Amino acid sequence: MEIRYWNKEIETADREKLRQIQLQRLKSIIASALKTPFYSRRLPSVGIHSPDDIKSLDDLRKIPFTTKDDLRQNYPKGLLSVDTSEVVRIHTSSGTTGVPTVIYLSAKDLDAATDIMARSIYATGTDKTDILQNMMSYGLFTGGLCMHYGAERVGLMVIPAAGGNTKRQIQLMKDFRTTVLHITPSYLLHVHSKLAEYSVAVSDLALKKAFVGAEPHSENTRRKIEDLFDIDAYNSYGLSEMNGPGVAFECVYKTDLHLWEDAYIVEIINPKTGELVPDGKEGEVILTNLIRHAMPLMRYRTRDLAFLHKESCPCKRTHRRLSRILGRTDDMLIINGVNIFPSQIEEVIMKIPEVGTNYQICVEKQGALDRLIVKVELYSKIFMGEAKQIDNLKAKIADELKASITLKPAVELHEPGVLPVFEGKAVRVVDSRPKL
Ligand code: ADP
Ligand code: ZN
Repeated sequence: MEIRYWNKEIETADREKLRQIQLQRLKSIIASALKTPFYSRRLPSVGIHSPDDIKSLDDLRKIPFTTKDDLRQNYPKGLLSVDTSEVVRIHTSSGTTGVPTVIYLSAKDLDAATDIMARSIYATGTDKTDILQNMMSYGLFTGGLCMHYGAERVGLMVIPAAGGNTKRQIQLMKDFRTTVLHITPSYLLHVHSKLAEYSVAVSDLALKKAFVGAEPHSENTRRKIEDLFDIDAYNSYGLSEMNGPGVAFECVYKTDLHLWEDAYIVEIINPKTGELVPDGKEGEVILTNLIRHAMPLMRYRTRDLAFLHKESCPCKRTHRRLSRILGRTDDMLIINGVNIFPSQIEEVIMKIPEVGTNYQICVEKQGALDRLIVKVELYSKIFMGEAKQIDNLKAKIADELKASITLKPAVELHEPGVLPVFEGKAVRVVDSRPKL
């Protein structure tokens, strides 16, 4: 059988070779883009009338950014380059920040995206002997189906469990000796908090790994997951606009996420000026999809903030590594004039050993001022402890948060099971301030 999940030549290609592949694929994407109502207007306006107008990769910069609003305004078919008879699947984004957007895949696009997904899975040392329980929702969201197809391509046994029904999930893990989970980090932590209730110990399970993604999480959350389950957790980044999961994935070394540069061109920009920033500097991730022709998307503003590593990876793959997502430009909170990303708060609280597996960030108006309340669940044996210890812990959490975000929040400590639980992407922030 042809191996389509490990391509040494491409994965370890030198940078020049990768650039050649990118240039050739970019030209071919331009040809498809010129067939869409949207790009057939936009590209000629910047002097691009045919693929031959792209002479080098630098010419990519002539193309204006494509934004989520462009996708919304051209909904449903403005970015479609083919007749719908050529389309074999659609997906939409989750709609975390508003109306969801749609993507279209032809049979060839789906095949190419599946190869990249399979490559990501294999890079973590997962192979056909593994059993994957896919706990992302199946349906319009890309997380379920796209991972499913990739895992089948590697030859794993896939349990398409989808999200929710924690009791059944735990039963499936036990009965089928699941070795790998695909899941959001918030839901995985919740699953752990339920094990005891169903009289299951981590040692009753055969788990070795988890692919965690779809939502921002900190290094401390990864560690917590790894410690609680005694597994390796690999960060998985993707977005529906770029075909879903598998855009960037950690390899066995867990040194942040290899972004597959034969399939996607990555640029990091200053979100305010649109200027490129050098490797190592944080900015907004801009992606050009090189493997989807039914709905081409170039220089897409993801609104995700990250940086590219400069150093190479011990695995010898040459595709650059993206840092974990530090936040989304649109989830930044401005609290009494201070800019705060929810991920900064998570990083602090998940480092504190007494803190359990769930938290929530609330912002409300009190008179003229904003009030930040961080609600944190503790492990039950800690919550049952002495009142004085709990008070000390509360003060410690508030102080550590102040040291990081410069603003001292009110901290509320809760017993496990009190705060809302999410089976897919967690909604961590409840901002009840009146909209301006
Ligand atoms: P939506 O933008 O509606 O959430 P998607 O379902 O396409 O739509 O989700 C993609 C987004 O999810 C990414 O742009 C990013 O903000 C977030 N995301 C995905 N994977 C990760 C990850 N590993 N770490 C942090 N954020 C992630
Ligand atoms: Zn690597």
